[in-house]
Amino acid sequence: MVSFSFTKTLNPLRARAPHYSDVVIIGGGPAGTTTGMLLARSGISAVVLETGTYSGHSMGQTLSPALNPLLAQLQIDLDPTETGSICCRGTASVWGRNASHQSDFFWTPYGNSSHVERPRLDRVLARAAVDAGAQVLCNTRMRSCRSLARGRWSLEVQSGNIPHGIQCRFLVVATGRVGNSALSNLVRSVVYDRLVGISWVGKSRKSNPFTLIETVSGGWFYASSMPGSRCTVVLMTDSDICRGNGHEQSQFWHRQFRQARHISEAFPESVESDPQRTFSASTILRTPASGPSWLYVGDAAMSFDPVSGEGVYQALLGASHAATAICKYFRTGWDPRSYDSWLGSSFRQYRSLWHKCYSVEQRWNSSLFWQRRHASHGM
Ligand SMILES: Cc1cc2nc3c(=O)[nH]c(=O)nc-3n(C[C@H](O)[C@H](O)[C@H](O)COP(=O)(O)OP(=O)(O)OC[C@H]3O[C@@H](n4cnc5c(N)ncnc54)[C@H](O)[C@@H]3O)c2cc1C
Repeated sequence: MVSFSFTKTLNPLRARAPHYSDVVIIGGGPAGTTTGMLLARSGISAVVLETGTYSGHSMGQTLSPALNPLLAQLQIDLDPTETGSICCRGTASVWGRNASHQSDFFWTPYGNSSHVERPRLDRVLARAAVDAGAQVLCNTRMRSCRSLARGRWSLEVQSGNIPHGIQCRFLVVATGRVGNSALSNLVRSVVYDRLVGISWVGKSRKSNPFTLIETVSGGWFYASSMPGSRCTVVLMTDSDICRGNGHEQSQFWHRQFRQARHISEAFPESVESDPQRTFSASTILRTPASGPSWLYVGDAAMSFDPVSGEGVYQALLGASHAATAICKYFRTGWDPRSYDSWLGSSFRQYRSLWHKCYSVEQRWNSSLFWQRRHASHGM
């Protein structure tokens, strides 16, 4: 096997940023790096700009079993020793009733799935992009961006503390839910809720092959095992419901955790310290998500409630549609229909499942979190 120095290749201070690339992708999460990988494989030069270094908060996530055939189709090999993944056999949920209901992935056509450590998964996908010929510049952020004649773009970026200019023919925004202000005059963001995830990561005495999900009055919890005898316990709630400083938010988390009987029994150690980070988890749709010489992909284009369990799957599926649309643009010109219409139909399907899912839980009808979900009928 070829030995590979990941940090060296992805270090912007050593890997020189080019002055021109066919495509520049802002954001090196799963959607950005996979788009870069697919473009590079098609002979289109791609540079991915990533502010982080793939070493952040090691929150655990569960991959959808539907990702298995997609990874095979995209020829991406997720080596479990590198992604730090462990087998996930299904979900055990306490949702709409007091007893736990187990759904085993064994009965799906795609088989088992994995619990992964997100920074490690992102790093493996970034490496696959580099192997395919894309450049991934970590610790690099876009400072400004302007459109030039004939659909070209000129970007000022900063790698570490070194400023640099790059021109490209196509711009991809893959910055996750935050989107990007550079194209905000072209795109409308529709924000559907104020969902956030408050996450706790710590040592766990025993591993559980199932992802546990349990509703409480202020939202719902998910808990999953992670490699190295650790686990993640995340409270999903609304940002205004858990409002307050870090201490008040921790108290809210612990109060809710005491209601989650099944999860607190499975991971009792998570009461021993406070949750560490809060992530935005709002459902957001950006329209239009594409135009001649630019597009949004992954969570930047449409982000799903984590209850769907489909975020990473959708990011890779979106990357595959985005790369197809961009390749077509370079070969035959822009087709305005295909990419946005795929996004629209995926989002409609997601919203219909979302309504069904939240309507099943009727035990907390006096709580604001659940009232909002039951009252929300907009697309
Ligand atoms: C609490 C929570 C739990 C979740 N659990 C699951 C789960 O169990 N399973 C699942 O499949 N999905 C889950 N998701 C969803 C999943 O995390 C996302 O759908 C997925 O990460 C989307 O990938 P992305 O590449 O579009 O965006 P992101 O993963 O958000 O990546 C965006 C990248 O862009 C970078 N960036 C941002 N701005 C800039 C900038 N200006 N310049 C350069 N870089 C920039 C960021 O550093 C980041 O690396 C969860 C989400 C949340 C919030």
